[in-house]
Amino acid sequence: MNGVLYVVSTPIGNLEDITLRALRILKECDLIACEDTRQSLKLLSHFKISKPLISFYSYNEQYKVRHILDKLSEGRKITLVSDAGTPGISDPGNNLIKESINKGIKVEVLPGASAFITALVGSGLPTSGFIFCGFLKRKPGKMKKELLELANLQKTIIFYESPHRILKTVEICFDVFGRNANICLARELTKKFEEFIRGTIEEVLENIKNRQGLLGEFVILIYSNDKTK
Ligand code: SAM
Repeated sequence: MNGVLYVVSTPIGNLEDITLRALRILKECDLIACEDTRQSLKLLSHFKISKPLISFYSYNEQYKVRHILDKLSEGRKITLVSDAGTPGISDPGNNLIKESINKGIKVEVLPGASAFITALVGSGLPTSGFIFCGFLKRKPGKMKKELLELANLQKTIIFYESPHRILKTVEICFDVFGRNANICLARELTKKFEEFIRGTIEEVLENIKNRQGLLGEFVILIYSNDKTK
């Protein structure tokens, strides 16, 4: 008999954001597949959970998918977690979920924290239509091209960005969407220095240019209703 693959979201900063169901599943499963075992050990030891772990990160993903599928076929209950947030969202997991479905293995997804949903709701930008793009291409020319393709959608555009590229990326947004488009930088969500930097692209650019350094984790959200841009 096949086992079950549980997909469990973990906190993106504040440990209180783990759900009761997530804790129960982590305690009851046979094995936890995690991105970085050291990171997951911190979380598990905080909640006094001790379980066998196997590493499952992007570089060994394909090999580990087969290994985990074998164990699921033997009837094991396996929980997939990533370092933070929801597995499969800009994190490993999608292939394992797809292959489990193909093999008729039950996949149970537990709802929980994800940075982009938290950022979208707190941004105040329209939530009725949005597009989440994960990480955009790093090279400025390619990023600009990607953004230009999204620019006429009339939806809130959401993407992840690392702190050392924030200023350059907001400058590219200025070029693509113009000074008056609305932007929100959601920084360090659920953590001590959580901040939403909201305004037009011009205002936000001015704000961050005047800062010494922009540290932490970021989600960028843009909404432009200027059809001429
Ligand atoms: N799986 C995660 C999720 O569900 O949100 C995303 C993992 S992705 C590798 C990491 C990126 O998510 C970071 O570079 C940052 O852009 C965003 N992120 C994660 N935690 C965040 C936080 N607390 N505040 C703002 N952005 C965050």
